[in-house]
Amino acid sequence: MAIISAEKLRQLMLKLGEAARQELLRVLRQPELRGQIPAPALTAVLRDQQLRVDDFMLNLLPVAQLRAFAPLSNFRVGAVACGTSGSLYLGANLEVPLETLGNSVHAEQAAIVNAFMHEESGVTSLAVTAAPCGHCRQFLNELPNASDLDILVKGQSAVKLGAMLPSAFGPNDLGVSERLFGGKKVNLVVTSGSTDELTALAVGAASRSYAPYTNAVAGVALRTSVGTVYEGCYIESAAFNPSLSPLQAALVGLIMSGESPSNITAATLAELENAPITQENVTGAVLDALAPAASLRRVTVRVEH
Ligand SMILES: [Zn+2]
Repeated sequence: MAIISAEKLRQLMLKLGEAARQELLRVLRQPELRGQIPAPALTAVLRDQQLRVDDFMLNLLPVAQLRAFAPLSNFRVGAVACGTSGSLYLGANLEVPLETLGNSVHAEQAAIVNAFMHEESGVTSLAVTAAPCGHCRQFLNELPNASDLDILVKGQSAVKLGAMLPSAFGPNDLGVSERLFGGKKVNLVVTSGSTDELTALAVGAASRSYAPYTNAVAGVALRTSVGTVYEGCYIESAAFNPSLSPLQAALVGLIMSGESPSNITAATLAELENAPITQENVTGAVLDALAPAASLRRVTVRVEH
């Protein structure tokens, strides 16, 4: 897996001392962390370094950019989110060739999804290679602390999301009090077909979805040719279009691990039976574009109270 070489990291992180760089390299080279720098590892890296976490996040952006999957634009965007636990999460943009541009995931979304999939309870700041686009500002408005979220861009003072998104439209406008990272989990049971490992993981991801606008909980689990599995939860936005499909969320984990989407061999989609929307067609189309030989299985679930 293409993660990062010691020499490349040295070029990108000249401000870090040798021991700190070695520690960071050790963390970045663990694909199972999926672009997470756990809080204890971050403490170890920054020990004896004259570098604040905010500055370190900005310095990490080129490392995040390396994980972008941008076959259409060849334009790599990087983001780093700081979770409330103190762990950091890398994010990068993801594009799907042969399909509509609407399937793209922006780096900011990827960093947030990465934190969400690691079961963080929130995000306090987000570093980005350039100020977030309008689409991302809207997506970020699902966070519980949205207006207080610090946006960090190199060479500029931190700006609160609230200042970047005046006259915001958000969950309150649709009468929704739930927020992303609220920790809500529903109990789901499979209503179609037999269950296997991928099904269990897809159902587990569906149970953690953030779908307050349709309640159409959904989850995806992917397996790759090296045997790794990736899960993705469905995440909605009050403005609908910035919502992320469960496949997009799973693909974020995959590219953050340094794997190629073409490695996918099998996928399972779990979604609510009789829901007002379905992820089935878009999941099949995106999977066909990225990994034509991959199999897709769909199972339905219902909520058990
Ligand atoms: Zn964006």
